[in-house]
Amino acid sequence: MSDINLTSSPDLGVDTDSSESTPITFAQFQFSSLILRAIEEQGYKNPTPIQLGAIPHALAGKDVMGAAQTGTGKTAAFILPIIERILPLASSSSSPAKHPIRALVLTPTRELSDQVAENAFKYSKYTPIKTAVVFGGVDIHPQIQQLRAGVEILIATPGRLLDHIGQKTANLSQVQILVLDEADRMLDMGFLPDLQRIISLIPASRQTLLFSATFSPEIRKLAQSYLRDPITVEVARQNAAADLVRQIVHMVPSNQKQRAILKVLSSRAKNGKTPQCIIFTNSRIGCSKLARALEQEGIKAAAIHGDKSQLERMNILDGFKKGEIDALVATDVAARGLDIPNMPCVINHELPYNAEDYVHRIGRTGRAGATGDAIAFVDDSELRLLADIEKLMKRTLIKLPVPELGNDPASDPFFYLPYQAGSDGQVDKTKPSIAASSSTPVNTGITKRPGLGALLGGAKKN
Ligand code: AMP
Repeated sequence: MSDINLTSSPDLGVDTDSSESTPITFAQFQFSSLILRAIEEQGYKNPTPIQLGAIPHALAGKDVMGAAQTGTGKTAAFILPIIERILPLASSSSSPAKHPIRALVLTPTRELSDQVAENAFKYSKYTPIKTAVVFGGVDIHPQIQQLRAGVEILIATPGRLLDHIGQKTANLSQVQILVLDEADRMLDMGFLPDLQRIISLIPASRQTLLFSATFSPEIRKLAQSYLRDPITVEVARQNAAADLVRQIVHMVPSNQKQRAILKVLSSRAKNGKTPQCIIFTNSRIGCSKLARALEQEGIKAAAIHGDKSQLERMNILDGFKKGEIDALVATDVAARGLDIPNMPCVINHELPYNAEDYVHRIGRTGRAGATGDAIAFVDDSELRLLADIEKLMKRTLIKLPVPELGNDPASDPFFYLPYQAGSDGQVDKTKPSIAASSSTPVNTGITKRPGLGALLGGAKKN
């Protein structure tokens, strides 16, 4: 395998080579003008690191193994070359035979499929290429109609695709490009047998592009079985969180977590921060309960978890994107792969059992070059999980005392350090109050205001 390691930062829009004075543009990939027009319409100025690394090889027909999380621009890194490569074969005829499936993108979740498709529609809108998306949990019949009419790019979750194959409404014999998106998630979710079955139906002469947040031994094995001499493109350190995310841990007893969240939300609002946030919980029941409790406190909250129907999940996500919902309370499965641009804040109501899920969770913020806050409420029973996370990320997280839960929440809305509107918005790690590099968490409970205020250098506003 050839290895290309572009940059250790997964943020978007970064000039990957500081020695180069002129940033690379999309035109330099020699995309068709129909594609360049769509890119321009999206407002993308320069390719992101994963795009810089993957696009030239994908355009050259090579297999690519890309290590990139959602939020790095990875979707365009595979969809744009797909469109370019199948464009010469595109036909404006309405005959279904003229529109065989030429590119197949497999994703682990309905939400991710939907998002990839949304991107594919945008990027191909000036071409005659037809795109469709199929996933389970919704009526299969409209999907059948669409597939029967012919599509060149099909985005699918494995289970529903197999249903279509069984019903002979999807034929993969002309697929030239296969994408395995979030391959690590697909393996985690037990899709390996489905993947094997699907791949066995695709011509061996195909090009395969595999994207994964991490390159675990299982992923490498998958790549060995199904990719041919792939080029490896890594834009993120393995399991590293975007540097633009400020991570804060508050040690909070579990029975005070809800109040702590309310305090954080009100402090953020009073500091002029956008109210939107995603709050992660570990269970479906906990998720619904928290969303209801927040609603009772007057917060526009909604729960998104696996018990919700696909339609409900889509409506909630839509409401969130439109700003009708401020606090999206989510479980990991429901939130996987969600593309919510400029998410300012991710809150962990509790830490996930799996440290990698923490990296995924906080990857919802600090995207597209924006900074974001990732706030975790941790009680003593979770210290072990916290240690796992710190080990995985090879960094010690900043532990701050809890907001003043015991006091009148309205009395001091500007006191709370991470939400202060600083000049550059960065947490000042030089302030001695913050246990920035201590592995011993600051003790839980209620902090005395003068202590913290003094540490803030008199930043408290009255
Ligand atoms: P993804 O990692 O594919 O989920 O993309 C994350 C976000 O980045 C999406 O909202 C894209 O629209 C956006 N994006 C993709 N490529 C670029 C680019 N070159 N410049 C700016 N934003 C981009």
